[in-house]
Amino acid sequence: MMNIELNDILELKKNHPCGGRLFTVMRTGMDVRIKCLTCGREMMLPRSKVEKMIKHIDKNIRNDSINNAPKGTE
Ligand SMILES: [Zn+2]
Repeated sequence: MMNIELNDILELKKNHPCGGRLFTVMRTGMDVRIKCLTCGREMMLPRSKVEKMIKHIDKNIRNDSINNAPKGTE
């Protein structure tokens, strides 16, 4: 299933009324707060609903300190 995390960039199947389709995750939990990257508006949706709306997740930003420990001891 989808793994929604803070700062992920979500591409949704449905456009925001402003025409944008990319959203960033502001808060996760039972409800997920996402912010439209095009118009800056925020909205809160049930997690299950957001998961169904997602087309693609971009995990490119600011997650560098959260990932699994690097294997640097060889
Ligand atoms: Zn928008």
